[in-house]
Amino acid sequence: MNIHEYQAKELLAKFGVPVPAGFAALSVEEAVAATEKLPGPLYVVKAQIHAGGRGKGKFKELGPDAKGGVRLAKTAEEVRAAATDMLGNTLVTIQTGDAGKQVNRLYVTDGVDIAKEFYLALLVNRATGRVSMVASTEGGMDIETVAHDTPEKIHSIDIDAATGFMPHHGRAVAAALELTGDLAKQAANVASKLYDAFLGTDAEQIEINPLAVTEDGKLMVLDAKVGFDGNAMFRHKDLMELRDTTEEDAMELEASKYDLAYIKLDGDIGCMVNGAGLAMATMDIIKLNGMFPANFLDVGGGANKEKVTAAFKIILADPAVKGILVNIFGGIMKCDIIAEGIVAAAKEVNLSVPLVVRLEGTNVQAGKDILANSGLAIVPANDLGDAAKKIVAEVQKAA
Ligand code: ADP
Ligand code: MG
Repeated sequence: MNIHEYQAKELLAKFGVPVPAGFAALSVEEAVAATEKLPGPLYVVKAQIHAGGRGKGKFKELGPDAKGGVRLAKTAEEVRAAATDMLGNTLVTIQTGDAGKQVNRLYVTDGVDIAKEFYLALLVNRATGRVSMVASTEGGMDIETVAHDTPEKIHSIDIDAATGFMPHHGRAVAAALELTGDLAKQAANVASKLYDAFLGTDAEQIEINPLAVTEDGKLMVLDAKVGFDGNAMFRHKDLMELRDTTEEDAMELEASKYDLAYIKLDGDIGCMVNGAGLAMATMDIIKLNGMFPANFLDVGGGANKEKVTAAFKIILADPAVKGILVNIFGGIMKCDIIAEGIVAAAKEVNLSVPLVVRLEGTNVQAGKDILANSGLAIVPANDLGDAAKKIVAEVQKAA
């Protein structure tokens, strides 16, 4: 689960991380009012969307010469102009894709005089099984580009969970950022506070880009991207309230209501599978047969008819889907129940693409009979290889 920059900064501030003052605004008037609560003389108006690269982004409605989603303003009137430009318009950045994201919230924050920008992120390093701090002197830039062009400028510092954050970790971060003296102390302090925040919120990622040194020698977080481990959210009711569902993929959101694990992908074949492992195998075998999956969808072990119907509707709501492959092993879930769900859903949504179903397990014959007698053009398959071949053939035939 991701949150907005302003929410991330408020959260980090609670852990003692230095951030500039700022206020969220849902309207132009709120944005202008924020200037009265800030010291000035420089304000920054920032579009709040769940994507980075806002500064260099472009608004669809404003044309190529207009400024992006992070704007400096010297007066309340300039804040008004920036807010008017941004609210309700669509910001396209390197992270949003071509469709862009509509800006519905702004953050009006204190403008600081930047002497230098750094990069500092915390993430779970799967290779080492530890929390890693990733530090670079190349802040304010697209970190993927830095990693590609100058990998030697990216330093990774692992923290052993058994010891927690130690002073030497702080010194390593300061050294990676090439800081000395008081700024080195500040860097160690910021790193330690970020580590506290990371553990305390069950974060999956905290990315600070930039972490800036101001002209008067202060280290400050100017941009923060924070994401939490969705599986840990049950113990963070307060953080759950920060969720902004308008930022999430509509279909993924719908799927989460039914507790379905659904992820939209770029291919043509919709998949409905039970069990993440079987879902992965199904996606692999579709690729092996020359096409690509349109989604990952795990209906789970204990899915019922309602869940299957919901899953079916979600797959079919995707206009990219040219065919559907259902691959279910009826262990806990019986094949006849699945078959009833498939038939009910297919009738309800007016199935217009080929459907191949492979059932195996408890009550498999009863399930196959339900499909065969449904009056629908369902193609039965006997095993996974057969199913993948058939769906690819059906889609190519229909094209
Ligand atoms: P994004 O990464 O989405 O483009 P940032 O918050 O990183 O958005 O802003 C882009 C750039 O704008 C920063 O690298 C920094 O140079 C400048 N900036 C952001 N916030 C401030 C601020 N409070 N004061 C001065 N400059 C800022
Ligand atoms: Mg940034």
